[in-house]
Amino acid sequence: MDRMEKLNILGDAAKFDASCASSGSGRAGKPGQLGNAFSSGICHTWAADGRCVCLLKVLLSNACIYDCQYCQNRRSNDIPRATFQAEELAELTIQFYRRNYIEGLFLSSGVVRNADHTMEQMIRVMRILRETHKFGGYIHVKTIPGADLKLVEAAGLLADRVSVNIELPSSGSLSLLAPEKKPDMIFTPMRGIETMRRSALEDGKKHSSAPMFAPAGQSTQMIVGATGDTDRTILRLSGGLYQKFRLKRVYFSAYIPIGTHPALPPRETATVPLLREHRLYQSDWLMRFYSFTADEITEDGERLDMEVDPKCAWALRHPEFFPVEVNRADRETLLRVPGVGMKSADKIIEARRFGPIRAEHLRKLGIVMKRARFFLTAGGKYEGEARHDHPFLRELLTDRYDNGQLSLFGDGNKTPRLIGSGESAAPPASIPQQPALPETPSFLKLMNA
Ligand code: SF4
Repeated sequence: MDRMEKLNILGDAAKFDASCASSGSGRAGKPGQLGNAFSSGICHTWAADGRCVCLLKVLLSNACIYDCQYCQNRRSNDIPRATFQAEELAELTIQFYRRNYIEGLFLSSGVVRNADHTMEQMIRVMRILRETHKFGGYIHVKTIPGADLKLVEAAGLLADRVSVNIELPSSGSLSLLAPEKKPDMIFTPMRGIETMRRSALEDGKKHSSAPMFAPAGQSTQMIVGATGDTDRTILRLSGGLYQKFRLKRVYFSAYIPIGTHPALPPRETATVPLLREHRLYQSDWLMRFYSFTADEITEDGERLDMEVDPKCAWALRHPEFFPVEVNRADRETLLRVPGVGMKSADKIIEARRFGPIRAEHLRKLGIVMKRARFFLTAGGKYEGEARHDHPFLRELLTDRYDNGQLSLFGDGNKTPRLIGSGESAAPPASIPQQPALPETPSFLKLMNA
């Protein structure tokens, strides 16, 4: 098999790894249009300074000895297999880099022979790049579950970002769909990476020449919708991972029906729960930057509200918190207002130093008034007819109204209609959910054990 054949197989196999923020898009080029997007091959990530970086996203091998039922590369799946030699993959990366196709490498792999052997080969690729070719570009490496911690350490000294995929959100799902993997194969390296990273940071403060360890931090990926794990379980686990192991990111990946196990959604399931994935990302953002907890976001049930975003859903459940007066509220309170982001909260606080804020100033401060007008007052006044106790408030906040204008006046007993469209406010089709799994020790408990 030549390199291009291997690249086709292993680039395509890597598309299921979601640890790059823009890797899920696939769009064919059309005559008369410029460009296209492939869900495999080259993906984008963002450097700490906000720059977008193109990465060659590839597996070292898809000849996996494990049989994780949700995975395309499981040993029982009849697909073409390929494995790169470390030298081949390093050479390919350098060739692509020299041609300006990529600025870095995202390297993952199935488990070939055993975890340590695979990890050694991945380290070899990075070592050739860093030491032989003096490659200074970005490298994101996935560690192999069960690999020796010494190898994880060697990987962290060569890569910018290291990740350990948690894949499933509970020990029940893991033992059902990936019984060869045990929770400690995931949490031991996560804990080890955090310890090594902290110690490298301490060393770096004392000696400027101390080696860096995974300077871009660690991340993980969780598959959503393969099993009956609820949004509350997923968000509590994410919150625990951020706190316990200081993860940079938890990536959510909507399950693509590729497995045949009876516990998985049937292969013919057409709906990939992308909306659910989107709501989880919104909730994750609230936890990381807006001081919300997983329990606050899911306080009214196990599942997230699919009709309104999680911040609006929280605001609807807490009318006692509103309205917030823009001239008096502290930053933390402002951040609870739908439509007020971190930048606009800071601008509000800055603007207040020069005088009272009036309703006409709000849009100029970057506030999304489409949502904020129901929850924010300036000098005691709402904008226009908006009020936080508006009878159609929920309908007005649904994503379905984003591009339409809804009359603020009307009969509170009738379903609101989009002006001009004649469309009624029918709820979106419900998102298929797998049946809930029986109680098992949660990952949170095992993580803290
Ligand atoms: S170990 Fe990784 S590559 Fe192998 S079957 Fe499981 S998820 Fe897939």
